[in-house]
Amino acid sequence: MNVKIEKLVKRFPGRDKNSPGVTAVDNFDLDIPDGKLVCLLGPSGCGKSTLLYMICGLETPTSGKIYFGEDDMTDVPPEKRGVGLVFQNYALYPHLTVRQIIKFPLENVKGEARLSKEEMEKKALEAAKLVQIENLMDRKPGQMSGGQQQRVAIARALVKMPNVLLMDEPLSNLDARLRLQTREEIRRIQRETGITTVFVTHDQEEAMSISDMIVVMKNGVLHQMGKPQQVYDDPVNLFVASFLGTPKINIFEGEVKGGALYIGEGDKGQRVLDVKGVDDRKVWVGVRPEGFEVSENGALTCSLKGIDVMGRDISVVCNNPASGEVIRAIISAENEVDESGKEVRFDLKPHKTFLFDKETEERLRFT
Ligand code: ATP
Repeated sequence: MNVKIEKLVKRFPGRDKNSPGVTAVDNFDLDIPDGKLVCLLGPSGCGKSTLLYMICGLETPTSGKIYFGEDDMTDVPPEKRGVGLVFQNYALYPHLTVRQIIKFPLENVKGEARLSKEEMEKKALEAAKLVQIENLMDRKPGQMSGGQQQRVAIARALVKMPNVLLMDEPLSNLDARLRLQTREEIRRIQRETGITTVFVTHDQEEAMSISDMIVVMKNGVLHQMGKPQQVYDDPVNLFVASFLGTPKINIFEGEVKGGALYIGEGDKGQRVLDVKGVDDRKVWVGVRPEGFEVSENGALTCSLKGIDVMGRDISVVCNNPASGEVIRAIISAENEVDESGKEVRFDLKPHKTFLFDKETEERLRFT
């Protein structure tokens, strides 16, 4: 089932007439293709959860439309949308067994659509098998690990085979190891069932690893949508470039003069690249950690602070006056860097170097 969002707005009023209120989701257009897993990614407070709750019907939009396939869902109550929901805190009933918890959504169905007891049992077992907890059916939540509890919550959301599965930070309560394991599980289950899934997270690594597409948002506004690698390789602005990637992209102050890029300004600028197609102006320069090449006569000189060995790669940690932060360059361990030296020089890889307008922070493309 594809999900289409048109010009969606959610404004929360202020507490009283002196507080201005918040636009949590601002004129949002989004097309989620059938059968894909899409992550809503952005910093805390950017409106991810509000958008998710509007898709499931728990929040009413101020304006705009939500469609599932051809059907306008904007005013349809949550229980009639055919959505499964998984929250950060698994919200399992402590006094029920796993079997009863998973069956709960089926027990709630009234009228003709209600299944027989045997059919409910069969569906509950199928959902439990999908998340591999079929041997825990008689346990209660208190007798299970956090990871197992979250699987129960996923089985409960899947038991009615929803049109759309919605997950709000489902992994945040799990420890690091379980988080990795459970995210792989979610990916597997999503692929097996082919259910269109919307997954909210503020963790860019999680989003990059799990999703078919990511939607990067800030202050209720969509900044970029695309395949994770495509967004990483081709960010539209400084915010998106900085939000994706570990270690973070390195940011310098720079200047374009006569088709050449200088890092640093005025007399202190170092000419680092030819950048055709960009007019003379001040810019932010973003260089991915893997965008540096150590070279004896390299164009950019940095003062060396240290070297972190990471096995296959090494991380060269250095400073440059044009950057307010420590620079991290990831290079192959086959490179030799003189650790006792005071300076290290780099050339920059053009496809790993991005320019942004100093004012608007929008990307400036060069050839
Ligand atoms: P987090 O990752 O911290 O959960 P989020 O990206 O999911 O953040 P939302 O919870 O959607 O963000 O909140 C978006 C904005 O709307 C925030 O500024 C928040 O304070 C505000 N907001 C959310 N719910 C309400 C509400 N019921 N009343 C007033 N403001 C709200």
